[in-house]
Amino acid sequence: MRSNQEEINLLMFRAGMGTAPDSGQLMAILLKLLNAKRTIEIGVFTGYSLLLTALNIPEDGKIIAIDEDRAAYEMGLPIIKKAGVEHKIDFIESKALQALDKIVQKPDSEGSFDFAFVDADKVNYWNYHERLLKLVKVGGLAVYDNTLWGGSVAMPEDAVGHMLKEGRKLTIEFNNLLAKDARVQICHASIGDGMTICKRIS
Ligand code: SAH
Ligand code: CA
Repeated sequence: MRSNQEEINLLMFRAGMGTAPDSGQLMAILLKLLNAKRTIEIGVFTGYSLLLTALNIPEDGKIIAIDEDRAAYEMGLPIIKKAGVEHKIDFIESKALQALDKIVQKPDSEGSFDFAFVDADKVNYWNYHERLLKLVKVGGLAVYDNTLWGGSVAMPEDAVGHMLKEGRKLTIEFNNLLAKDARVQICHASIGDGMTICKRIS
């Protein structure tokens, strides 16, 4: 038998996988406001945020979508096809850091993206950020999901169940680094599981 607290932690953990619908709406309007055409997504899973992005960029827009789990992507693919937006997606099955490093090395990749959405392993968020600040143009956005980590970032450590502890620590570290990063203007939106919107300013 799991305790109530463990049950809640587990639910928060699972809910954290998919993008929350309210976060999705915010993302959709950001994509529209930005007129985003070229985007990167790190952490696709079954494609909720990917489909949402594909529906909010123009017909000739492109998303480079990176996930090490092709089976999860393929599970959601029929819905993406039904929506008629598969042609906008370049799926890369890979560890995200490796794939990003390859993209960074390509000539003309610097500043060539309007928007990036990161929703993968929290331990690498800062590594992704460093690369995305090369790839996203000045004035473009990099958006990070789960930056409240089930609300645990605002709780004392001993009030947090063991399933959230490691993620809480990583998320607090990441949030602190972002707050100090003069290359971006940030908005830490307490929507869904927390979504930090970073505008590249230099
Ligand atoms: N954005 C998705 C949810 C992503 S869940 C949605 O809206 O539904 C996190 C995903 O990140 C998982 O599919 C997992 O396979 C992927 N992931 C985690 N670490 C990764 C890594 N190092 N490289 C590539 N993909 C990774
Ligand atoms: Ca998420």
